[in-house]
Amino acid sequence: MKKYLLKYWITFWLIWPVVFSLAADDSSFDRQEFARQVKKMAEAALKEEKAYEFLKTLALPGGRLTGSPAAARAVAQATDLMTQLGFDQVRQEPVEVNRWQRGQTEKALVKSQKKGPHSLNICALGNSIGTPSRGLEAEVLEIHSFDELEQFQQAVKGKIVFFNIPMDRTEANPFAAYGRAVPYRTNGASAAARYGAVAVLVRSLTFRLDDFPHTGLMIYDEQIPRIPAAAIATSQAEQLSQWLKEDPHLRVNLKMNSEQCPPVMSANVLGQLTGEEKPEEIILLGAHLDSWDLSPGANDDAAGCAVALEALRLIKEAGWRPKRTIRAVLFMDEEFGGTGGRFYAASASRGSEKHLLAIEQDNGGGPPVGLVLGGGAKIIEKAEKLEGILSQYGINWIRPGGGGVDIGPLIQQGTIAGGVVPETQRYFDFHHSALDQLSSVHPREIELQAIVLAIVSYYFSQEGI
Ligand SMILES: [Zn+2]
Repeated sequence: MKKYLLKYWITFWLIWPVVFSLAADDSSFDRQEFARQVKKMAEAALKEEKAYEFLKTLALPGGRLTGSPAAARAVAQATDLMTQLGFDQVRQEPVEVNRWQRGQTEKALVKSQKKGPHSLNICALGNSIGTPSRGLEAEVLEIHSFDELEQFQQAVKGKIVFFNIPMDRTEANPFAAYGRAVPYRTNGASAAARYGAVAVLVRSLTFRLDDFPHTGLMIYDEQIPRIPAAAIATSQAEQLSQWLKEDPHLRVNLKMNSEQCPPVMSANVLGQLTGEEKPEEIILLGAHLDSWDLSPGANDDAAGCAVALEALRLIKEAGWRPKRTIRAVLFMDEEFGGTGGRFYAASASRGSEKHLLAIEQDNGGGPPVGLVLGGGAKIIEKAEKLEGILSQYGINWIRPGGGGVDIGPLIQQGTIAGGVVPETQRYFDFHHSALDQLSSVHPREIELQAIVLAIVSYYFSQEGI
């Protein structure tokens, strides 16, 4: 190589990384300045712990079962709260929802030749029909899988089928364990009724042995007669299994008066910080306002709602002015089939709006550990610029993922999903049971979720997707 050529060659290799990095990063994002502002915002957030205040307000009406008077009160309360916080365009968008009532009676009595009567802790599964008013009584068949149900199909007729399938404790990811056990709750009644069962008892979905039944949605197959379906507390499932070994002919008397009611009108509640440059481009922060009726649903999902509102408040309070709109949507009816999410995506009021990113917070109020984003490697790369900032508030990783019942319809329309992932090892301890009380959520932990959500949503409102 000639000497002058060598000089150019060396210069090229010295400057090309600079040229390349300038070309790749055409945004005006000043990471250091943002980190400084985030620190100030987060210090105030952790000092004030407003997310927990919002949680208390939103959970005030108690169990907010879709279509119930308590859910209607929660809609009004959430609207007032967003108005007080000074969000833009606070409004309710009406949604027609199904209504189901638990009723006053939920009793299961074990009758055995060998023991006196014992009552079991049960609760009706959401959507279940009741029993005849005098109750129904039958022998019990314990089943451990759908395969086993097929195998014993001749023995099912006239029995109460008892699905005793624990969540797999060897699974480190609680949602994976839940996912494998939940089909027995959702579809067990129709699977058993196909062979003539008269009712089902389904072991509650929690890793813990406790005395509290955990409810949840069940769905009937329209082709198969409907039978009552109840959840049984895990400690009682163990007990019943033991009693069945001692007396295979023991009988259970089941009495429930749950029922379907005519549909009613309810609403999603919206509020936003309107974007200054591209108001029609939306970063959505979603959570569900409805809950099950056995508790105030603190983790599921008053926590998610509180975090979404606090993220908006933090952005506003910090004086950050989003280029694109950041909108909180508190959806109605996640638990009973997601009508709120479907309505939102299909609503004519979406008009010219373009949803860039939809983040759903519905994994409880635990401390944040990770961030998930859909849409491919480029978006993850973009978010990775925040890594050093987010790690201050618990985020250990950023991975592909995201989704949820409420934002599912938006994702189908091409919106990119996201989520701040909290620690969830204790989530199913409370899930859908009387244990999901305010005391099961820690003020600092949900505040950290809100801080992360504020950082991520503001960053994408400035940088786009
Ligand atoms: Zn939920």
